Amino acid sequence: MLKISQLHKSYPIGDSSLHVLKGIDLEVNEGEMVAIMGSSGSGKSTLLNIIGILDDYDEGDYTLDGVVIKDLTEKKAAIYRNKFLGFIFQSFNLINYKNALENVALPLYYQGMKRKERQEKAKYHLEKVGLLDWAHHLPNELSGGQKQRVAIARALAADPKLLMADEPTGALDTTTSYDIMEFLQQLNDEGKTLLIVTHEEDIAAMCKRVVRLRDGVIMEDKIVEQVRAATVNV
Ligand code: ADP
Ligand code: MG
Repeated sequence: MLKISQLHKSYPIGDSSLHVLKGIDLEVNEGEMVAIMGSSGSGKSTLLNIIGILDDYDEGDYTLDGVVIKDLTEKKAAIYRNKFLGFIFQSFNLINYKNALENVALPLYYQGMKRKERQEKAKYHLEKVGLLDWAHHLPNELSGGQKQRVAIARALAADPKLLMADEPTGALDTTTSYDIMEFLQQLNDEGKTLLIVTHEEDIAAMCKRVVRLRDGVIMEDKIVEQVRAATVNV
């Protein structure tokens, strides 16, 4: 699915620079559910943004589904993002003046899908996250957990090969977090490949593999026995 080797990334800071990723090697195969763990500032989001083709890197190699991702034009990057990747964010990033259904349908519009097909597909995915009854509600009428479900439906609508989430439970209480994790586990059970950035141990333990970053270096990368969110009492 994806292969990264000896990846380096620095941010310019005035006359000098901040070396954030210092030689990352990472391979993720289809069907995996991987947590990227690390304390704040360890480089998790930087790595996820590079994998998500939202940012470029300085040195090393990155291949996504057989495509070399390096120095792409913004147009090419957008094409590959649409084709391969789905994103879920801590702050949901829904459009406030569009209802749940419209939010889910929006990426399909950018894919050039016809209106009727967009509506059908968006409905299907809203139903999948259990929110069909909420289709015509605006984001501010939804709870945090419901907003994140809409965001997941939106990410799934374009049928991405890889679903990427940056602190998807960071703005949710524990019960709702586990509820979202249970849903992500079910998606993985169905074969979806997931990459989840988190700084919380309990969330990482709900994945199947934990990659630990510290100061831009992978300290540990191991398969874990997956804790099923549904079995955890909060
Ligand atoms: P994490 O997600 O693990 O908290 P980040 O990848 O966001 O870490 O950040 C890693 C380091 O890079 C931090 O020191 C952060 O301040 C710095 N950083 C992140 N983005 C930028 C940027 N656009 N410009 C300069 N420094 C940045
Ligand atoms: Mg971050």
